[in-house]
Amino acid sequence: MTTATNAAQAAAALQAGAPLSGMTDVYAASVAESGGDRVAMVKFGGERQLLAVGGGALYAALEGEEVREGGAAYKLCPLTHNNRLALNDAFEYTKPRAIGTQMATIGLGDRLGLASPGHIKTVAGRNIRPILAQQSIRELNLTNRSYEDVLDAASFAVFQEGYKDGWGADGDHLKTPADIEYALRLGFSMLTLDASEHIDNAAASLDDAGVAARYAELDASYRARVEAEYADRTFAIEDASIEVSAAALKRYALVYGRAVQFMVEIYRTYIVPAGRGIDFEISIDETATPTDPAAHWFVANELKREGVEVYSMAPRFCGEFQKGIDYIGDIAQFEKELAVHAAICDHFGYKLSVHSGSDKFSVFPLVAKYTSGRFHLKTAGTNWLEAVRTVAKVNPGLYRRMHEYAAAHVEEALKYYHITADFAKVKPLSEVSDAELPEYMNEDNARQMLHITYGILLTAKDDSGASLFKDEFYATLGEHEEAYEASLIAHIGKHLELLGK
Ligand SMILES: [Zn+2]
Repeated sequence: MTTATNAAQAAAALQAGAPLSGMTDVYAASVAESGGDRVAMVKFGGERQLLAVGGGALYAALEGEEVREGGAAYKLCPLTHNNRLALNDAFEYTKPRAIGTQMATIGLGDRLGLASPGHIKTVAGRNIRPILAQQSIRELNLTNRSYEDVLDAASFAVFQEGYKDGWGADGDHLKTPADIEYALRLGFSMLTLDASEHIDNAAASLDDAGVAARYAELDASYRARVEAEYADRTFAIEDASIEVSAAALKRYALVYGRAVQFMVEIYRTYIVPAGRGIDFEISIDETATPTDPAAHWFVANELKREGVEVYSMAPRFCGEFQKGIDYIGDIAQFEKELAVHAAICDHFGYKLSVHSGSDKFSVFPLVAKYTSGRFHLKTAGTNWLEAVRTVAKVNPGLYRRMHEYAAAHVEEALKYYHITADFAKVKPLSEVSDAELPEYMNEDNARQMLHITYGILLTAKDDSGASLFKDEFYATLGEHEEAYEASLIAHIGKHLELLGK
């Protein structure tokens, strides 16, 4: 059997400490040693596994089939959750860790659990660190994955690539104590706290008289304190000056006051007691209107007062950050507000975070400039679109079926996403040759159609309950790893170039 021979050859080389770089089906960069045991990622029979030799603690901890041949022994171990934990125990670099406020980071949200090797190849050697695992609870539900699965996939990818520069795992847009506890218990190194349910959007749209009336109902000592600290004051900081009128203060207190309390509570209940570094991001981007820079100042200053150490802050910017396409809006206005948001971040010592940041090519150079290269940028769905592009290249039949299904079901997805695509402008499939299919991923309307239907496509089943696309989609990408990596390196690489990284 070829499989057994290959494994034995690879095991012998691993045992001897010889380089594995010439061998097929072996990820040579993965080879790692712990207490005399050696482990490598291999792909025999089309399936990734760990190959282990030695006889020490790590070898014993890895669960898998032991093969004995001619006096030598090795183990082939499946990529299970327990085996990931065994690697984590032996190799610190396979665990996520907090990256801190001085280094730029990019959130890469690998929804499929397949993109991280390509992501690592893209960021390796650059002045930025990847947040490889980054999922919201909604994304977990749409893809039928758990946080354990998400961390397993990222951690195995880090091992496979031998990436030792550090990476993060983000519990993205978490809103409840239960979800926060879940993510932190598993070792997530970043928490993006979504305070949207505590932000009073209704107060944001009241007129000044309405705001004043409701403000008068707030606790008197709170009102006295914030008035003394903010009302009709100008805060001059380096590169910006922030004015807070008495009327604006009342509005900020109403809109953000409770949200600030919530952030402080979460910080004290979960972040401080965790006893390890956690990149604590505050997101106030899921609001009805753009975040006024002075409101950003108010939230930041209130948090500082309570001793909350913030890692990054995500305001909602003016204009539109729709999924998978470039920025839509007044770029001059964006630049003006960005400059103030970035100055506030600098003043408080945290990073500016840009959400829905994929494909926003026209604003990347501005983000790089005003943050002096200290930012966090979140991308997610664009990595799915690169997977779709890869399938369009290597399995046109599957692409056509997915495209057709997406077109038929896109209305269902629209209730979750705000986008302005015109699906009638997507060129009919019948007019497109197989070779031209990848071009769909260069056209905004088709991109958005396939972007927002990812959950529908991945969970679609036929009458017998079998997956319509998911299994074949995974199998295709598994067979064409290098093609998917090449797409990611080109696309995410373009992001990094424009971000000055
Ligand atoms: Zn967000």
